[in-house]
Amino acid sequence: MSNHLFDAFRSRMPAPERLLLEADDRRSLTYGDMLARSAQLAHALLQLDVEPGDRVAVQVEKSPEALLLYLACVRAGAVFLPLNTAYTLTELGYFFGDAEPRVIVCDPAKAADIGRLVETSGAIVVTLDRNGRGSLADQASRQSSNFHDVERGADDLAAILYTSGTTGRSKGAMLSHENLASNARVLVDQWRFTSDDVLVHALPIFHTHGLFVATNVTLMAGASMLFEQKFDPARIVSLLPRATTLMGVPTFYVRLLQQDGLNHESTKTIRLFISGSAPLLAETHNAWRERTGHAILERYGMTETNMNTSNPYEGERRAGTVGFPLPGVSLRIADPDGGGTLAQGEIGMIEVKGPNVFGGYWRMPEKTRAEFRGDGFFITGDLGMIDADGYVHIVGRGKDLIISGGYNIYPKELESEIDALDGVSESAVIGVTHPDFGEGVTAVVVRSPASTITAAEILGAITERVAKYKHPKRVIFVDELPRNTMGKVQKNLLRDAYKDLYAS
Ligand code: ATP
Ligand code: MG
Repeated sequence: MSNHLFDAFRSRMPAPERLLLEADDRRSLTYGDMLARSAQLAHALLQLDVEPGDRVAVQVEKSPEALLLYLACVRAGAVFLPLNTAYTLTELGYFFGDAEPRVIVCDPAKAADIGRLVETSGAIVVTLDRNGRGSLADQASRQSSNFHDVERGADDLAAILYTSGTTGRSKGAMLSHENLASNARVLVDQWRFTSDDVLVHALPIFHTHGLFVATNVTLMAGASMLFEQKFDPARIVSLLPRATTLMGVPTFYVRLLQQDGLNHESTKTIRLFISGSAPLLAETHNAWRERTGHAILERYGMTETNMNTSNPYEGERRAGTVGFPLPGVSLRIADPDGGGTLAQGEIGMIEVKGPNVFGGYWRMPEKTRAEFRGDGFFITGDLGMIDADGYVHIVGRGKDLIISGGYNIYPKELESEIDALDGVSESAVIGVTHPDFGEGVTAVVVRSPASTITAAEILGAITERVAKYKHPKRVIFVDELPRNTMGKVQKNLLRDAYKDLYAS
């Protein structure tokens, strides 16, 4: 019997006594433990009549059990469907209705409410409390373990992962066993992971970054993780001397830079810092290199495609770029209106094709058709260009492009200029309906602590560097930018909040 993804992990597995993870200094799990415990959990799922292809929806706090549950779903032939722990009951209602899970696994505090929510659906609600009687983990510990992985092939569904919901309602991306296995293999190779690596893992595991990049790469390399439930910057700095790599979102790096303990000495065992999920400012990249001597490697991916590009392990990691397409990934810059591939240096829609690319959006056949070209390329929704040396630059999301007075204006260009000013902590530039210009360029700015910088000073400072037609019509100061749980700025909320700004 073969189970495509789990067999791929198994084929690279180190000796059973090797450490897979250590969680918050309290618990550790070896590869042998992982094999035994995930088999027990998989067996417990089968006891609940989970059939191949059934969805197992999981909303639990990050823990070793939660990770084991992911592997148990793979081994039981189920479709793993993790959900953001921040989702409210109303939001959960939508996801359960959309995905129709056979089993829902949740934390004990939510079990009664979720039970009521899905009362008529036939879904089974269980908890994942290691010590809770009757919980899935408890039942699993009673199972005898003559378990055989359920047969699943390369194209069978391994997971449905909902996108982050940065631009609107989250969509369920259907990912096959091979989508995940092929990407993990390529990343292990590109980033030179081995079983000697120790990864600091402080990301959530309901998102592609923490689940499929960080965890799958670890498993595929037979490496170990320091598995932190939360990102606590002071603690992460204290863990670095025991680790060899860190994967983080840009806000991790910004917050780590605020720690006094971050320096050459505390990072001397680290061979690789990786960033993704949102743009890493060149400023952060440079500050990090100055403080630690390390050049952060930035890469680009998305829920639908796993990872598309990476800066090189050897060779220049170019700040402000996401590097080169990964082996096996075809990436082109296309005319957004479908008019073919653009020349080097021109800005257009990023489109990708390869074994990493998902099969479509769950129960959205029309949207799926609309997002794929006839030749199989997926339209990412991100705008970018390729420079003369082949590095891919992400210019922003197509939905964030501003068309003002007939000109295309890329928010990122302005944001980089504004963010670099003394007195500015960060900014988001958006287009707001304007009676004369179609859209009015609008800068939403967070001042740095104690700064009194004014709109006129910001406009004055960028005059020399940015053409007049791109200048913000208005600058609005706020205390913070709205972000989702992955630290991404939610520009749709800003556009909503200021939609009447220029109404006459
Ligand atoms: P939704 O699709 O629901 O609006 P989302 O696109 O934020 O949410 P994800 O799949 O988590 O959901 O994020 C993928 C997106 O994140 C990419 O399409 C891209 O816009 C952005 N992204 C990822 N890595 C980078 C990077 N290194 N630089 C710039 N943007 C990045
Ligand atoms: Mg998206």
